[in-house]
Amino acid sequence: MPQSAIAIRKVFSTDPATGKVLREFECASSEEVAAAVDHAQSAQKLWREVSFSERISVFRRFQTELHRRKDEVAAQISLEAGKPQVEALLTEVLVVLDAASFYIRYAKSFLRPERVPHGNPALKTKRGYLLREPQGVVGIISPWNYPFSIPSCDVLAALIMGNAVVLKPSELTPSAALLLRELFNTAGLPPDIFQVVIGDGLTGAALTTATIDKLIFTGSVPTGRRIATAAAERLLSIVLELGGKDPMLVLEDADLDIASSAAVWGAFMNAGQTCLSVERCYVHRKIHDRFVELCVEKTKRLRVGRGSDPESEIGPMINQQQLNIIESHVADALAHGARVLTGGKRLPELGPNFYAPTILVDVKHNVGSNVARILIEETFGPVLPIIPFDTEEEAIALANDSDFGLSASVWTRNRPRGEAIAAKIEAGTVMVNDVITCFGISEAPHGGVKSSGLGRTHGRSGLEEMVRTKYIDAELLPSIPKVWWFGYGSEFHLQMKGFLDLLFSKNWAHRARGAAKATGALFRKGRL
Ligand code: NAD
Repeated sequence: MPQSAIAIRKVFSTDPATGKVLREFECASSEEVAAAVDHAQSAQKLWREVSFSERISVFRRFQTELHRRKDEVAAQISLEAGKPQVEALLTEVLVVLDAASFYIRYAKSFLRPERVPHGNPALKTKRGYLLREPQGVVGIISPWNYPFSIPSCDVLAALIMGNAVVLKPSELTPSAALLLRELFNTAGLPPDIFQVVIGDGLTGAALTTATIDKLIFTGSVPTGRRIATAAAERLLSIVLELGGKDPMLVLEDADLDIASSAAVWGAFMNAGQTCLSVERCYVHRKIHDRFVELCVEKTKRLRVGRGSDPESEIGPMINQQQLNIIESHVADALAHGARVLTGGKRLPELGPNFYAPTILVDVKHNVGSNVARILIEETFGPVLPIIPFDTEEEAIALANDSDFGLSASVWTRNRPRGEAIAAKIEAGTVMVNDVITCFGISEAPHGGVKSSGLGRTHGRSGLEEMVRTKYIDAELLPSIPKVWWFGYGSEFHLQMKGFLDLLFSKNWAHRARGAAKATGALFRKGRL
């Protein structure tokens, strides 16, 4: 069907603090997405041949330019996503600047051929090594909650490995992606190697079925499942960075002042719209009441307002759908006997999408029983349910009683104990005495287990996703025929049984007999 016969779909960049439309965009059609991928494919053939030092130069210029325009970038992110500008500076701009440093520093050594030593003595005359080659065109589909840092880190990892990229940003926050492309243009990245296609879920679906070689998806579990199904059809390699329901475990010996501040920041930063947000807080019963008191007191002191106001600490929700989810989770928790100690309501006097940071108690979590949605579904809003526990084993069981497994945290003055508990929690990352900041550690892998996703972004593991590993094996004595080649027979069979005895028998006499038999194979006659 010609494009003109198809209804043109549009997406709207909106200021969530006011509901005002900032800019509208036409959605890229599937033909436009396919064309972008085609152009990227051609461009990638040249980019993969560009010297590594030239790629690094582009990255350095990108970093310089981003640093120079940091305030403008942070302001743009804040306007479109609602978060305080200082949060945009720290959790978006700084994270990307640091990621660029990591790739500049580390990527060359990662790409060096890696020797694969051979243990089998019969194969010692070979030299094996790994080459890491670019995947080709990497498709990236990203969400709205970190509209700059999430796609940028993936774009940087893909480009430094010699890939081209087609990015489909969230329909709610396209401007941040356009800024990213502009920064790369200014840095001198050759044309077509990094392209942005704007649109809704249909545009994303078109990218999934286009001829990309790898897909990095960050978003919700339901969309992730749809993408995995489409990718399975054509065996497209994918990474899925999905939602979370991250638990925070506060042990009886934790520093209560520090842990309560961390809970409040971890639950309410970016208005709770963070995949790594503290969504469930389990506190030892001995300290529960005091901990709750501190959290309530600190939450009441938070300033809610527009991201452009430097005094604001909590911005708006991204839109009404998000507010509806939060409200329904709180209502369901109340129906299950929970109590709101602070918040629990919209703040219409501030704008259409504001919700007060909320602390809930008496939310019962008995493993295996009918628990409130707020303890099992991702809320993605500024709501902190605090639940007491009695024993360490119970705390671990509660933390693990979830379909999700993105990250978790353990709070204790006894670090070895915290690390031992961390090892028992089912999650991609567990922090001891910190929350969320793992995302900003460029060297650390990011990703989840269970419904929280597949594969990893960031760090060395993230780079592994951007390459195809090729194993090269070269024979060092090519003029000597192999012992195991044709010319079989009963004698050869016995010699080879002897060889296996030599290698694996636990009996030394057996081994010695095996060695004697196997040696004969080196001189056997009738070999083809
Ligand atoms: P979403 O799943 O609604 O959308 C994510 C992206 O997928 C958007 O660009 C959207 O247009 C696109 N999309 C929608 N349908 C599609 C389809 N059928 N095919 C291809 N693309 C499609 O998620 P969201 O609301 O933008 O983001 C919030 C979610 O993302 C939360 O669940 C959050 O936990 C998760 N998230 C995870 C991480 C992580 O690193 N694990 C980070 C940030 C956000």
